[in-house]
Amino acid sequence: MKQEAQEKDGWDLKTIRFSDLNLDERILRAIDDMGFEEPSKIQAEVIPVLLQGYDVIGQAQTGTGKTLAFGAPILNNIESTGYINSLILTPTRELAVQVNDELVRISKYTNAKLLPVYGGQPIERQIKAIKRGVDIIVGTPGRVLDLIKRNVISLKSIKFLILDEGDQMLDMGFIHDIEAIIKTSNQDRQTMIFSATMPDAIKKLAKRYMKPNAKHISVIKNVMTIPTVEQYYYEVKNKDKFESLCRILDVEEPAISIIFCRTKRGVDELAQALQSRGYNAEGMHGDMSQNQRLQTLNRFKKGSVEFLVATDVAARGIDIEGLSHVINYDLPQDTESYVHRIGRTGRASREGVAYSLVTPKDYSMLKLIQKTTKSNIKRKEIPTIDEIFHSKYRSILRRIKNALEKDDYKKFIPLVTELDEDYSLVDISAALMNLVYNKEVAFDYSEDNIGSSGDYARLFISVGKMDRLKPKVLVRFLCSNAQISRESIGDIDIMKKFSFVDVDKDAVKPILKHCSGKMLSGRRATIQLSKPKK
Ligand code: AMP
Repeated sequence: MKQEAQEKDGWDLKTIRFSDLNLDERILRAIDDMGFEEPSKIQAEVIPVLLQGYDVIGQAQTGTGKTLAFGAPILNNIESTGYINSLILTPTRELAVQVNDELVRISKYTNAKLLPVYGGQPIERQIKAIKRGVDIIVGTPGRVLDLIKRNVISLKSIKFLILDEGDQMLDMGFIHDIEAIIKTSNQDRQTMIFSATMPDAIKKLAKRYMKPNAKHISVIKNVMTIPTVEQYYYEVKNKDKFESLCRILDVEEPAISIIFCRTKRGVDELAQALQSRGYNAEGMHGDMSQNQRLQTLNRFKKGSVEFLVATDVAARGIDIEGLSHVINYDLPQDTESYVHRIGRTGRASREGVAYSLVTPKDYSMLKLIQKTTKSNIKRKEIPTIDEIFHSKYRSILRRIKNALEKDDYKKFIPLVTELDEDYSLVDISAALMNLVYNKEVAFDYSEDNIGSSGDYARLFISVGKMDRLKPKVLVRFLCSNAQISRESIGDIDIMKKFSFVDVDKDAVKPILKHCSGKMLSGRRATIQLSKPKK
C-alpha cells in the first residue's frame, strides 16, 4: 500500500522520527508524553545542528514548534547545577511564560530548574527563586538586564543563549539591552537567534555575536502550488473549539472527511469527544499498530466510518476516493503540510472543500499559509443556532421527500392511522421531525453566537492618517508600552483623525494603563473602549 500511495502522491514517505535525532531518552520520553508524533520541520533541521555545537539562525515563527527545536538540545545533556546554564530572551512576558511552560514539559524527566522572569512582577520574589538555584531562565530583556546589574545572575558560564522572536525584540527597542546582556555572557556559549523575518539589524546582531560558521536554517518557503480546493477558515475561541467543530459538522454535513489534529493525544481526545456526541468518528495515529490502522482505514473507505480523525503522519500516503472535506481542527506547523493535507480532497477533478479552525494564536500561521500558497482562504462565520436549525430542517425535509418517493415506509401506515385518531397528523409529523433533529445535533446549543468576536475588544485611538500614523507604528506603540504580543492585535482601521484597533480582551487593561496619554506619531493618544465592529 505504501508504494502505491507514494506513487500517487509523489509525497516522500520517509519520516524523520524524534528517535533519529540523537536525543537523550529522558527527552524522548517527555516528547512522547506530550503526544507529538513526529518532529516539525524546524525541529528536524535545527535539533541535530544544535546538538553538533553550531550556532543557529532560525527563520521561523510561532506555531512552527521552535520552542522544542531549541528546548530539546538545551535540555538534552543538562545536569542541574543551580548555576545558570541557559538564557532565553523573549520580547513579551506572555511569550516568556509560554516558552517556560513548554520547556517545563520537555524537562519532565530531567532535574533542571526553570524560571520565567519579566517586568511587572515583584523582582524580590524572582531574586529569591534564583538564589535557591535555577538552571534555565526565560525572560524579557529589561528584567534580565536588571537582574544582571544587581549581581543576582551571572551569565559567565552559560552554555546556551537563545534570542526568541528576534525581529520583534528589535522592533520593541530592546537592542541595547540585548547587546548589554550578551556582552556579560560566556564567550564559548552556543547562540541561537529565532526570527520570523531577517531584517539587517538581525543580520548585524548575528554577525557581531555569533560564530562565523553559524548555520542559517529557514522553514519559510515561498509559493507552492495548491490544488483546486475551496478553502475556508473559521475564527474560534480555544474554549469553544469543539463546539465550533460540531456546529460546522451539523450545518455543512460533510460526507466523508478527514479531521486533522496536531498530536496523538489530540486525536484520541477529539475522536472520543465526537463519538460521545454521536458522530461516527474514529481516530488514527502512529501509536496504533499497522493492523489497527488498516482496519480503521478500511472502515473509512467502505463508508462505515464518516469522520477519520488523524495526525499528519497517520494520514500520509493514504488515498481515499470521494473524500469530500478536509478539516484542520488544528492548523499544521508548516505550509507544506497544509498543502498536503488539503490535497487529499478535490481529487480527480471533483470539488473539494477544506475548513480550518483558527484560534487567535494560530492567526500568524494562517497568514503565512495564505501568503506562501497565494491562496484565497475565505473567512466563514461559525453557524448560529438558527442556521443549524434551518440547515437540519432542510435536510430532514429532503430526506422525508426522498422516502415518500421510495414507497418503503408503508409498513408504518397502520400505526400512524391509529395515532391519527388521537392526534393531528401535523403534530405527529412535527414530533417525528423533532426526534430526528434532537438525535442529529450534537449539542443542546444554547449560546447563539460563538466565534472570535467575543475574544476581541475594539479600541478607539485619537490619532489617525492626518498624523501620518501607520499600522506598523501603532502595533509597535501598543506592544512595547503595554508589553503585549503582536498576536493579541487584530484588525486595524486608520481613519483621517482617529483609528480603531481590535485587540485581545486580555490586552485591553495593559493598553489603557500603559499607552493612554503617551505620544504616538507626534500626538498625545487618547484611548477608549469602543463598540465592537459589526
Ligand atoms: P511553538 O512554535 O514552539 O510555539 O509551538 C507551537 C505549538 O506546537 C505548541 O503548542 C507546541 O506544543 C506544539 N508542538 C511543538 N512541536 C510539535 C510537534 N512535533 N508535533 C506536534 N505539536 C508540536
